[in-house]
Amino acid sequence: MTDCIFCKIAAKNIPAKIIHEDDLAIAFEDINPQAPAHTLIVPRKHIPTALDIEHTDQALIGHLFRIGAKIARDKGIAGKGFRLVMNTNADAGQTVFHIHLHLLGGRAMHWPPG
Ligand code: 5GP
Ligand code: ZN
Repeated sequence: MTDCIFCKIAAKNIPAKIIHEDDLAIAFEDINPQAPAHTLIVPRKHIPTALDIEHTDQALIGHLFRIGAKIARDKGIAGKGFRLVMNTNADAGQTVFHIHLHLLGGRAMHWPPG
C-alpha cells in the first residue's frame, strides 16, 4: 500500500533500524521506545488490523510470534520476560494500520496495561 509507513519501511523507502528480515516479515526498532527493548515485528503483507487476518494468514501470524521469541532470546530478555502485543483500533491505541507485534521487554511490565 503506497501511503502506508510500514509498507514503506519494508520496501526500504524510508529508513529504520532493521534487526530481522525475511521473505514474509521484517522487524525494526520502534522510533519511540516504551521499554529498554521495543521492537516491531511486521508482515510484508499489508493487513490493516487483527480483524482483517484471513484463514490463509494463520501461518504468517505464527511466524511473527516466532520472530518475536527469537529476538527476545537474542536480546537476552527471554528468561526474565517480555510482551508480544498487537493493538487493535482506537481504544487499544493503534496508530499504524498495518498489523505489527510490539516486542516489549527489559523492564518489569505492569498488569493490567494502562
Ligand atoms: P501502534 O500504536 O499502532 O500499536 O504502534 C505503532 C508504533 O509504530 C508506535 O509504537 C510508534 O512509535 C511506531 N512508529 C510510528 N512511526 C514509525 C516510524 O516511522 N519508524 C519506526 N521505527 N517506528 C514508528
Ligand atoms: Zn502497509
